[in-house]
Amino acid sequence: MSKIIAGNFKSNLTRTKIQEYYQILDSKIMPNDEVFLFPPFFALQQSQKFQIGAQNAYPANNGAFTGEITLEALKDLNINTLLIGHSERRTLLGENQEFCAQKFNFFKTQDFSIFYCIGENLEVRQKGFEMTKKFLAAQLQGIDTNYPNLILAYEPIWAIGTGKSASLEEIEEVHAFLKTLCPAKILYGGSVQKNNLTEILKLPNVDGALIGSASLDIYNFIDMITLARELS
Ligand code: PEP
Repeated sequence: MSKIIAGNFKSNLTRTKIQEYYQILDSKIMPNDEVFLFPPFFALQQSQKFQIGAQNAYPANNGAFTGEITLEALKDLNINTLLIGHSERRTLLGENQEFCAQKFNFFKTQDFSIFYCIGENLEVRQKGFEMTKKFLAAQLQGIDTNYPNLILAYEPIWAIGTGKSASLEEIEEVHAFLKTLCPAKILYGGSVQKNNLTEILKLPNVDGALIGSASLDIYNFIDMITLARELS
């Protein structure tokens, strides 16, 4: 089975650069690759060979939600994949668990594929594995873990954008625990790069990777897709 490779551009790149990116990716992707991209809103569009998802959406059909994108607009763009619960939205934008669950439930009723992110901060991690497990379980509160279109992403905050991934033992320990709570595929995210991707993907409970900074360069991202392909 192919491992999932997902790229999260966050608020990087421009529409022009992303159009070029899509073209190059389109020409390099192989039929069995499972590739997802989460670009900023202005680059949301349909794609044949890889999936494009939104980094965020407001749980409503349309309405007075300045700065947000809603269901009607996503449907019009043929987008039915959504990232929910990313730590940057939880911490910088103040999205609490209740709101993450509200979004999840709204888009679940619309059959969206939901990439749902969870992850502890350093303070929690330093309190030990029991505390970490409790914290992660709380981030699943209100989420239907049996939803067939759910993909979970474990992203320890202390590893995101720091260049220092969690260790293989740490990743496997958390993923094995999460598999006891949730039958979904589980991606690891947090400073995944070309030089650590293969060993992370080889872990038994890792079904793919969610990649931030290392996805921004198309050729680097293609190399990572190729590495994942070699494992399938
Ligand atoms: C992310 O924010 O989803 C992420 C994994 O970022 P990075 O790969 O840059 O750590």
